[in-house]
Amino acid sequence: MPTPSDFERMLREVALRVTSPRLAVLAAVHDHPHADTESIISVVRANLGAVSHQAVYDVLKALTTAGLIRRIQPQGSVARYETRVADNHHHVVCRSCDAIADVDCVVGHAPCLTASDDHGFTIDEAEVVYWGLCPDCSDARSS
Ligand SMILES: [Zn+2]
Ligand SMILES: [Zn+2]
Repeated sequence: MPTPSDFERMLREVALRVTSPRLAVLAAVHDHPHADTESIISVVRANLGAVSHQAVYDVLKALTTAGLIRRIQPQGSVARYETRVADNHHHVVCRSCDAIADVDCVVGHAPCLTASDDHGFTIDEAEVVYWGLCPDCSDARSS
């Protein structure tokens, strides 16, 4: 479990100034993997008090650009964020309620699918999203 000083170190390592909004956003994304911007804003506000939407958007953008957090946006969903950035993991998304869970990459590194024809491109990533129904939604349908 990372401590506040771990988050400070992460910011320094990517040459970002340590500010309380940045620390609060990093902690919120860490504690709530795949949270959307609105949920992150409410967690940050619960911890810091008044913080503008724009401030949180700006921090999310800076942290994403610096590689400390990863932005994912399944089709039809709003952007979500996570601090699990160091691997090539994938996501399974519920078509009904938008629940998201991590799925470890079977191969372990990108690109984990070989294109049948690369058209001469140097391919460095295959984006894999698994779609289906989460256990709750499956139960709701079968009953
Ligand atoms: Zn569901
Ligand atoms: Zn994830």
